Amino acid sequence: MRTRIEPADSGLPEAAELIRCGEIVAFPTETVYGLGGDAGNPIAVSRIYQAKGRPGNNPLIVHVPDVAAAQDCSAQFPAVAAVLAQRFWPGPLTLVLQRNERICPAVSAGRNTVAIRCPNHPIAQALLRGSGRPIAAPSANASGHTSPTTAQHVYDELAGRIGLILNGGPCSVGLESTVVDVTGIYPVILRPGAISQAMLAQCLAAAGMAMEVAALPSPAEKAIRDDLKSPGLLESHYAPRTVAYRFYASDLRGFNTYLRRKPNERIGLLCFEDFVAPTTVAKKRVLPSNAEACAKVLYSALRELDAVRCDVLLVQFPESIDGVWLAIEDRLRRATKELPL
Ligand code: AMP
Ligand code: MG
Repeated sequence: MRTRIEPADSGLPEAAELIRCGEIVAFPTETVYGLGGDAGNPIAVSRIYQAKGRPGNNPLIVHVPDVAAAQDCSAQFPAVAAVLAQRFWPGPLTLVLQRNERICPAVSAGRNTVAIRCPNHPIAQALLRGSGRPIAAPSANASGHTSPTTAQHVYDELAGRIGLILNGGPCSVGLESTVVDVTGIYPVILRPGAISQAMLAQCLAAAGMAMEVAALPSPAEKAIRDDLKSPGLLESHYAPRTVAYRFYASDLRGFNTYLRRKPNERIGLLCFEDFVAPTTVAKKRVLPSNAEACAKVLYSALRELDAVRCDVLLVQFPESIDGVWLAIEDRLRRATKELPL
C-alpha cells in the first residue's frame, strides 16, 4: 500500500470519508499522532490493531469532539468525570468510563470500560466533526515503539501499512495523555501525563469534591504490576530500537564504569542542558531543563539518536518527579533499562 502525507487542511475531507468507510487514517493531536478508525466499526478497529501489530489485550483510546459525545459512548458519566471534563477538555486527559454498545468490544480489548478523550487540536476536532464518528486512535507507531510527534515519524513507523497521514506539524504537548480511571469510588491515575496529580486534585477540591486522586503505582512494585489495570503501564514500551540504558547525574558510578569497560562502543547520549558530556560520545542530543519544553521534543530526540545506529544509548534521567517530570520519567523508564554493572 502506498502511504501519502497530505497537508491537514486539504486532506481532511478525504480523511473523514475514509473514517466513515471503515478505513484508518493517521492524524495529529496535541499529545502525539494517532492512528484513527471508527470506534463503532469492528473492521476499522481490527485494522488499527493490525497496522500497529498491537496485541489484542491493549485497549484503544476513543476520541470525541465534546462532552456530549463522550456521554453518548459511555454507560455512565459520573460527577467526577463531568468536573474533570469541564476543566480539562479539550485537552490531554483521558477518562476511563463504563463502555456502552456504541463502542466495539475490541476497542476496549474485551473490558466493560472505555477510555475517552476530547483532543485540543483543530485538525483532530475537524476530523471528528467531519466524520461524525467517535474515533478510536492509539499512537500511530508500531506497537511498543516510540510514539510519533510529527507526520514524518508516522511515515517512518507505518509506511506501507496505512494509506493517509494528515500533516499538522509537530505536536504541542509531545507526550501521551494522562489516563484517569473514574469508574471506582475515587479517581486513579493509570498513566501520568501533562495533567498532573496535583492539577486533578486541585480541580476536584475547587468543585467541592474532597476526594483522593490515587497516583500511578511505581512500576517497580511488582505486586501491583502483576494486577495491571492498564496495559499502558507495561514495563517495556515507548522504546527505541537501539538498546538504551538510564543514568542519573547525581550518581555517575554506573555511567563511568560503562564508559571504561566499553571504550570501543559508539555511544549516543541523551542528556539535559547542564550535563558535562564525555567527549567520546558519538552523538549527543540535549534536552531542555523545562519540563513542558522537554516533553515536547523528547520523542524526536530519542528517534534522532535511534536513527544514528549507535551501539548503545545512554539516557539521563530527570532528578525531579514533580508535575510533567513524572510523565517524562515514566516514559523514559519504560524506554530504557538499568545500566548493567
Ligand atoms: P495509546 O493509545 O497507545 O496511548 O494507549 C492507550 C492506553 O490507554 C492503553 O495502553 C491503556 O493504558 C489505556 N487504556 C485504554 N483503554 C483503557 C481501559 N478501558 N481501561 C484502562 N486503560 C485503558
Ligand atoms: Mg501508544
